[in-house]
Amino acid sequence: MNKIMDGRLVRDTRKEELKKEITKLKEKLTLVVISVGEDPASKVYVHEKEKMACDVGYQFINMHFDDIEEDKLIKEIEKLNNDVNINGIIVQLPLPKTLNKNKILNTISPLKDVDGLTDLNFIKLIRKEKGLIPCTPKGILSILDYYKVDLSKKVVIVGRSELVGLPLFHLLLNRNATVTLCHSKTKDLKSYTKDADILIVAVGKKELISRDMVKDGSIIVDVGINRENGKLYGDVENSSLEVASFMTPVPGGVGPMTVISLMENVLEAYLLQKKN
Ligand code: NAP
Repeated sequence: MNKIMDGRLVRDTRKEELKKEITKLKEKLTLVVISVGEDPASKVYVHEKEKMACDVGYQFINMHFDDIEEDKLIKEIEKLNNDVNINGIIVQLPLPKTLNKNKILNTISPLKDVDGLTDLNFIKLIRKEKGLIPCTPKGILSILDYYKVDLSKKVVIVGRSELVGLPLFHLLLNRNATVTLCHSKTKDLKSYTKDADILIVAVGKKELISRDMVKDGSIIVDVGINRENGKLYGDVENSSLEVASFMTPVPGGVGPMTVISLMENVLEAYLLQKKN
């Protein structure tokens, strides 16, 4: 039996569905990614977004600044907020330390916040109101739904970041999962992971979760991306697949789901903009 939850397969399926929706529109939608400074990983991620955006039929603009003052960057975002031709705005993270990340992210109009990282969209998520959901948690739910995973189970998330673990905690709670959120200060991590029907790991430490930390027959989502000597590793040891019933691979699991979720958010943002 194939135990792999294949992110590329689910992405391709969702991409075709999205393309169909987009061709029905009269306008061409536009996604803007703002990047500041030189972060090699960010360059790769921006390129991936550009490729997928063009593939599905969006216009893609990368506004890159080698360096920019905070107030100038805020003015640039405000211009994009007021431009009816712009449907989605992303500020590529990480930003240089000289810039106030929260202030900058919260300048983005919540209706164009396709990364779902503004405070308003986070509050909407907690309250189960319609808003834009962060792409990685959204992608994780999509892949679990594709494989018809029953979420009303014991779910353990390792990692509580604002980008992944924390929004995912609320999304899963809203879907009637019983969720435990672990982090770096959690004592005896194994006692939690070993008890999880669904284990989701978003830490960024190569093979933090070993096979003996996983429950027999569980479902594992490995969010981690760890680069070592040009090779990618997840946060979960590959051999865990021998005891799990389903697992996402690295690469080819959550990564492709994140990018397609972003593209879906651009269409959702456009529909929200039309309503408001
Ligand atoms: P992050 O902001 O660095 O957060 C890491 C989280 O892991 C923190 O909550 C931290 O706890 C926790 N942690 C650290 N060491 C731990 C340990 N030994 N035991 C238990 N918890 C521990 O990272 P992130 O942005 O959430 O990303 C996590 C990983 O996912 C990275 O590898 C990243 O590259 C990857 N990622 C992948 C995608 C994708 O599309 N595939 C998208 C986003 C992120 P504290 O809060 O206590 O510090």
